[in-house]
Amino acid sequence: MDIRFDNRVAIVTGAGTGLGRSHALGLAARGARVMVNDLGVTTDGQGSSSAAAEAVAQEIRDAGGEAMAHGCDVSDEAGVKDMVAQVMDAWGRIDILVNNAGILRDKTFSKMEMSDFRKVVDVHLIGSANVTHACWPIMREQKYGRIVLTSSASGLYGNFGQSNYGAAKAAMMGLMNVLHLEGARDNIRVNTLAPTAATRMTADLLPEQAQALLAPETITPGLLYLVSEDGPSRVILGAGAGGFAQTRIYETEGVTLTGDENTPEGVASAFDKITDAGGQQELTDAFSQTKKYALNAAKAQGLD
Ligand code: NAD
Repeated sequence: MDIRFDNRVAIVTGAGTGLGRSHALGLAARGARVMVNDLGVTTDGQGSSSAAAEAVAQEIRDAGGEAMAHGCDVSDEAGVKDMVAQVMDAWGRIDILVNNAGILRDKTFSKMEMSDFRKVVDVHLIGSANVTHACWPIMREQKYGRIVLTSSASGLYGNFGQSNYGAAKAAMMGLMNVLHLEGARDNIRVNTLAPTAATRMTADLLPEQAQALLAPETITPGLLYLVSEDGPSRVILGAGAGGFAQTRIYETEGVTLTGDENTPEGVASAFDKITDAGGQQELTDAFSQTKKYALNAAKAQGLD
């Protein structure tokens, strides 16, 4: 069955170029009305211009679609509220939110200024939270919402020189996990995309041949599935060059140490067993972990 977005309204942040532009065009090509957001900054977050957002919105309209542009900074709460109000005034609903805007300020941790750490967290984490927070009550009221947060292999697996970016991108998983739980009863689904693409952000890092393979358009089909009506929730989807894979967080079965065993030495001697992947499980929420430990302790102490 075709995946379509007719009568759906989408906001895509950072959609003036790169991945966001590809996502916005992909949504519009399948019928969505799209608010194209972009602050028009350099890769390290300098300057501002609404030209890139306007150009993508125009591209969508030229192809027969419906689009508007907004040049707000996602980390500016008032600007974001204004953008959301503009969408509601024009189209009366918000079904899809793609949090994609982002910048880099790479430096080794020892050389990094805290202002650069904070700025990157501000754009990626606070920016995503801001736009999501402004759309949340609308989606709850509609009993429909599809949200994607954009993470990165840097946040999942680490990348030298990106402590600020890696921390901000890992935070997407935390935000997703909680919003997935809180949104479920109102039919709001929340997923995380971890793309790897040839954009201006990675222009200096990738050889020419890899750049051709890693076009943003190879990732957008995954994004479109995540925000579709029958899309999943709480999935971390890796995507690049047509490759798609899920990253999952598991907890090992572990051990229960009681009484005299529960010492640093006891932990050291049980460490192989603690880290053994056999019997590992995906936990559904924070309390499942608490429950597991308490029940195991009760059992070990003969209290169950
Ligand atoms: P890009 O630089 O081509 O596009 C990012 C866009 O975000 C730009 O148009 C920029 O103007 C906009 N932007 C930046 N700060 C903004 C702000 N405060 N408010 C509104 N707009 C803002 O980069 P890209 O490669 O297309 O990256 C898109 C997203 O994907 C980012 O979140 C990035 O971290 C993530 N990502 C990219 C890759 C990759 O390989 N390119 C890998 C992992 C994650």
